[in-house]
Amino acid sequence: MTTSETERIVQAEENYKKDPLYIPLTELEQSAFCQTENNLITKPLKEELQSTWINWQKIPESYQNLDANELDRRILKSKAVLGKDLVVLGHHYQRDEVIKYADITGDSYLLSLEASRQNAPYVVFCGVHFMAETADILTSSDQTVILPNMAAGCSMADMAKTNDVNDAWDDIQTITTAVTPVTYMNSTASIKSLCGENNGVVCTSSNAQAVFEWAFNQNEKIFFLPDEHLGRNTGRKLGIPESQMVVWNPFKPMGGLTKEEILSAKILLWKGHCSVHTRFNITQINNAREKFPDVTVLVHPECTNEVVNAANLNGSTEFIIDTVNNSKPGSIFAIGTEINLVNRLANNNPDKQIFCLDSMVCPCATMYRVHPAYLCWVLDSIIEGKPTNIINVDEKTSNFAKLSVNRMLEIK
Ligand code: SF4
Repeated sequence: MTTSETERIVQAEENYKKDPLYIPLTELEQSAFCQTENNLITKPLKEELQSTWINWQKIPESYQNLDANELDRRILKSKAVLGKDLVVLGHHYQRDEVIKYADITGDSYLLSLEASRQNAPYVVFCGVHFMAETADILTSSDQTVILPNMAAGCSMADMAKTNDVNDAWDDIQTITTAVTPVTYMNSTASIKSLCGENNGVVCTSSNAQAVFEWAFNQNEKIFFLPDEHLGRNTGRKLGIPESQMVVWNPFKPMGGLTKEEILSAKILLWKGHCSVHTRFNITQINNAREKFPDVTVLVHPECTNEVVNAANLNGSTEFIIDTVNNSKPGSIFAIGTEINLVNRLANNNPDKQIFCLDSMVCPCATMYRVHPAYLCWVLDSIIEGKPTNIINVDEKTSNFAKLSVNRMLEIK
C-alpha cells in the first residue's frame, strides 16, 4: 500500500468516527479485499474486523466471537421462531455463508420486485443500502425493512451524492430543459426521487435499452447516473456515437463541459463506476482466449465499453446466470462479474468449466460487509421486540422515488 493510500485510509477512518453511517471511499477497501480464494472463507467477525482496516458497523462483542457453527444454529433457530413474520432476501453477490439463509435470491431488480410481493412484516435484506431503500419504497407502510450492516453501501452509489446531483440538474436546466433524468437502480432513494419529480425514470442493467428508448421519446437528451459505463454501453447499443456522449464530472464547474458540448450531446454520463466491474480488462480476455480457444467471455455491462465490445456476450446478473445454467455440458465460460456469484455458478454447474476473468479473488467489498454475525444480531433484535437497523425512506422522497420505479415497471 502506498503512503497516499494510507493517508486516504486514515482520512476515511476519521470520517467514520465523525459519522458512523459515513461510507468511506470503498475503492481502497475493494483492493484490500483482493486475496487468495482460501481467505474468502468466513471467519468469526472479530477476526475479520482485525484483518482489515475498515470500520464496519459495531455490534455487541458477544456476536463478534461466535463461530460458524454457533451462528448457523442461532440463525436457523431465529428463522424458525419468526416463521412467516420474516422473509430474508439475498443478493447474488453475498457470500455463501449468508446466501444460504435467504428465502429468495436475485439481483437488485428481481429482489425489489419480490420485496413488493411479500406480506411478511419483517424483510431482512442481505445486500447493500440502496437495495434496502428500494425495498422500503416498494413495501407497504406496515412492513419493516432491515439492512444487517448499515455500513454496507455501494461504491458506485456513493459516487453520486444527492447535493452534487441536485446542483448538476440545476446547472443543466440553465442550458437546456430538453433532458430526461434516468438513474440506474444502484443509486440512493433521493436520486430516484429527483428523477420521479422531473419526469424521469429508473433503469436496471436488464432493461436499460428499453428505458433509454422511452426516455428519448420524451426528450432530446438523457442525463444518466451514476454509472458512466452502463450509460455508454447502452448508448452504443442504440447506435449513439461516442462523440454524442459526454461525461459530467461532479468535481468540476458545469461538469467540466462547455455549453456547446452539453447542447450537442445526446447523453450526459455521470462520472461514476463500479469498483468490481471496472477491474476487468482486455489483457484478461486475451489470456482466457489464449488458454481456452473455445471460451465464451461473458461480462456485465458495468464493465468498460472496450471490455464489453471484446466479450462474446454481456448482460445483467440474471442474464449471466441464465446463460450459464442453460448452456450445454462442456461449455467454457470466462466471466466478468463478482466472484461470489462466479464461484457459485461454477459449483452449481460441475459439468462446465467456469472461471472469473480476473485471477485475483475480489469480492464486492461492500456486499462482503454483511457477515452472518450481523444477520444473527438483527434477527435477535426482531425477536426481542426492538428491531434494529431499520431502513426508513421519508414519505416525500419515497413517493417520488416510487413514481420513477413504477414508470420503469410500465416500460415493456
Ligand atoms: S458490485 Fe459494484 S455496483 Fe454492485 S454493489 Fe458492489 S460496488 Fe456497487
